[in-house]
Amino acid sequence: MTKLTRGRELYRGKAKTVYATDDARHLVMHYRDDVSAFDGAKLAQLEKKGETNNRINAFVMGRLAAAGVPTHFVRLENDRESVVRAMKMIPVECVVRNVCAGSMAKRYGVPEGTKLAEPIFEFFYKSDALHDPLCNDDHIRVLGWASAKEIAEMKAITHKVNGVLKPMFAAAGIDLVDYKLEFGHPVDDPDGPLTLGDEFTPDGCRLWDSTTGEKMDKDRFRRDLGSVIDHYREVGRRIGVPL
Ligand code: UDP
Repeated sequence: MTKLTRGRELYRGKAKTVYATDDARHLVMHYRDDVSAFDGAKLAQLEKKGETNNRINAFVMGRLAAAGVPTHFVRLENDRESVVRAMKMIPVECVVRNVCAGSMAKRYGVPEGTKLAEPIFEFFYKSDALHDPLCNDDHIRVLGWASAKEIAEMKAITHKVNGVLKPMFAAAGIDLVDYKLEFGHPVDDPDGPLTLGDEFTPDGCRLWDSTTGEKMDKDRFRRDLGSVIDHYREVGRRIGVPL
């Protein structure tokens, strides 16, 4: 592939900045050192976070693509940047839980760490102002955020990802407790297969050491447990990311 030229900033999220390129089909995703929690209410900068997450994401997206999951990831560009396909995103977050934690534990009063007999799927409507409320298929379809077909595809792909990543992390001595995925359609193929966008990094999942139960994900930041990026890098090294 020919070298892309990074263009203007299109979007600045809480941890990544997205840039246009000279090719309308591709964007550059830049991973900053910023970390945020609680809808942006808690903010900090963590040294090496950007390059750590850029590399972990590239590795995981590669594994998913190899398993037949369509992803927007194209290639690692440099330490902090990856090239991705430009996407029109569906404004919902897809969460799968293998173990009860976080908002599910709070919502239903089920103790954190309770193993679930089978994976539980949840949708959330993406809105910081509304604090990403839980929603169901009908909200998504009737309010026009996605079609019934896309809803079915989001569920099927998110469960399929569990079938790839749960054993991958287990082999590295890590329990994949829960994770969040976001989907869309590439702008140059709007009627094509639903495609995984955004990122898969320790910012968007919960990972617990299988032996000690130690948290190795963004809960270290949310709960002030310290050495956040050391744990992200340990996750990466254990699954085979060159870090
Ligand atoms: N998650 C995320 N972005 C969000 C909300 C959740 O990446 O805006 C991830 C979170 O890191 C966890 C999973 O989705 O791995 C489930 O999160 P939960 O609903 O328990 O909410 P939280 O406790 O993170 O507020």
